[in-house]
Amino acid sequence: MRKSVLLLSGVVLAAGILVAEKTHLPKIDPQGIRATVKYLSSDELEGRGTGQKGGDAAANWIADQFKSYGLKPAGSNGTYFQDVPMVGVRSLSATTFAFVPANGAPVELKNLDDYVTSNETQTESADIDAPIVFVGYGITSPENKWDDYKGYDLRGKVALLFVSEPESNDPNFFKGKALTYNGRWTYKFEETARRGAVGTLIIHRTDLASYPWEVVRNSWGGERSYLRLDGTPKLEAASWIQLEVARKLVAMGGLNLDELYKQAQSLEFKPIELPVHLKAHVASSIRPFASRNVLAMVEGKDQAKQGEAVLYTAHYDHFGIDPARAKGDQIYHGSVDNATGCGILLELARVWAGTKPAAPRSFLFAAVTAEEQGLLGSEYLGKHLDQLPVQPILDLNYDALAPIGIPEEVEVSGAERTTFYPEVEKIAKEFSLAIKPDAHPEAGHYYRSDHFSLGRVGIPAFSISEGLKFKGHDLAWGETQSKDYVENHYHKPADAFVESWDFTGDAKLASFGYALGQAAATRPAEIKWLPGDEFEKAWEKFQSGEIDAEALFAGHPDLRPVQIGRVNYPPLARQTRIAGTVVAHVTVASDGSVRAVQIASGHPLLRSSVEDGLKKWNFAPGSEQSFDLTCDFVLDLNTIGSPRRGPYVVGPLHLRITSTAPIINTIAASAQKHE
Ligand SMILES: [Zn+2]
Repeated sequence: MRKSVLLLSGVVLAAGILVAEKTHLPKIDPQGIRATVKYLSSDELEGRGTGQKGGDAAANWIADQFKSYGLKPAGSNGTYFQDVPMVGVRSLSATTFAFVPANGAPVELKNLDDYVTSNETQTESADIDAPIVFVGYGITSPENKWDDYKGYDLRGKVALLFVSEPESNDPNFFKGKALTYNGRWTYKFEETARRGAVGTLIIHRTDLASYPWEVVRNSWGGERSYLRLDGTPKLEAASWIQLEVARKLVAMGGLNLDELYKQAQSLEFKPIELPVHLKAHVASSIRPFASRNVLAMVEGKDQAKQGEAVLYTAHYDHFGIDPARAKGDQIYHGSVDNATGCGILLELARVWAGTKPAAPRSFLFAAVTAEEQGLLGSEYLGKHLDQLPVQPILDLNYDALAPIGIPEEVEVSGAERTTFYPEVEKIAKEFSLAIKPDAHPEAGHYYRSDHFSLGRVGIPAFSISEGLKFKGHDLAWGETQSKDYVENHYHKPADAFVESWDFTGDAKLASFGYALGQAAATRPAEIKWLPGDEFEKAWEKFQSGEIDAEALFAGHPDLRPVQIGRVNYPPLARQTRIAGTVVAHVTVASDGSVRAVQIASGHPLLRSSVEDGLKKWNFAPGSEQSFDLTCDFVLDLNTIGSPRRGPYVVGPLHLRITSTAPIINTIAASAQKHE
């Protein structure tokens, strides 16, 4: 019997009621999940497209449900909503790409056949004429002692690189055959932009990418959505090129691509500048819009712990409506993907809101937007944890759980990388769920759903999904169902509601998530990534409130921080409720020490803290440098429980230092019973 059930039994016994043990788990209602799935995938919601009417209607409806269950708003300004500013970017046919060799005639490329590109800087026109540099895999990974750049300055250049990561069978080197985040294309664009590249050409190899060129072509041919610029460095030409095009390109420099691939496997690899320029004109249409995450919470009862929360996430968006399609087939209903996750999320919210007494820690529920556009809603959530009233300690995500039967297997990939795993194993056993290992770790599925957005900022996070074995069926049946879904329904209008669906299985996995949430909300110790995990460092940063120096100095490779101290909210400013912005002009001497901090503007009570903090910073020796640092001091009246971790990097050279406003507590805490 699990400990949480024992605790609940005690409560029930004390009340003089003795009921069968199983009923102590609050009742998740399969019919509730069904009703949500049916409504969210109906024609009325038009496929819940990001930036479309149906998506907005879905967000409003989900907020109404949270409210009706008695959950508190956890969005901005006392609402259930967190605005996610976005931009749609479409590359136009006026876009041109050419390889221009030092000697000889330029080679024009054909858009969509030879390459795809997108201007991440969100401007209508960009012109590039820059040398192309082969940078291997383009990876810097201290935990694997790997650096493809070796100090090479990529500023103003175009990076050419392979998708994926160095070949490995050693679990301690890039996790063996499994893909780490360093192998994902998103990382390649982020890392090269951080290093100042203007454009990047990812060489597409079907085996390395795990999908064919058609997939690249389809997903990059139309409008792409981005989070609105937040200061993070971006590429003017974030591009993929066909394998054969890459072969021709390196041959123009007298090199052989297969040879370069071999060289890229070596620790000794150094960037190779080709005698070829990329001359490009990137023409784009730009469409700004706002979307919303829907956030609600149930407050924990333990004053010392209620500032921490178990987070449940599920994306509510899908592909919306496409008037260009034949009548009757225009709506992408997104029934399995991910009305089912929303149905589970709402049932968990309803049940947790009704659980008495409340758990020690709080619960946060997030229906996120724009997952189908590249995990954008959850990325925004993860980058703005300081806007939340409570700090997540674990994220449990639900994405696409086909209601086709009662699962006897569960997938929790990523859980095994955390200290929470023994509890996950124990609870899975109690639910008679066999844990199914990731069948294709080399495809990097962990990095393709919303939990990853939380994982990458340090929060232990994983998805709960079905395996292939269902009650009353053999494995082959499950495989057939899965294959049918992928081939005939996945990301197609045919992912529509089916009346005969049975939601008992989805309810089972919701109950499983309830039990995991309960274990996490009551356990004494925090949940950590296992030592050496790729997210361990991010977790440490998140816990300590250490400044993410890499993000703070992104796009400024001259400034190489060695030691970054805290900038504190001065207690006197906090007590007198003074907030505002301080801009400091910082001069770094050639020995790397901070020689001077001049305050350009800001309240006197806030200035000294910035001055004192910055004077302790240290940089790698070099020539004398200077930069302007902006520090926003924000007092938060919304946060409950313990003060928030921070400061937060808002963008390059921009910090936000938050603190809770002082509260005079008149209620004695003695009545609080700790478990
Ligand atoms: Zn999807």
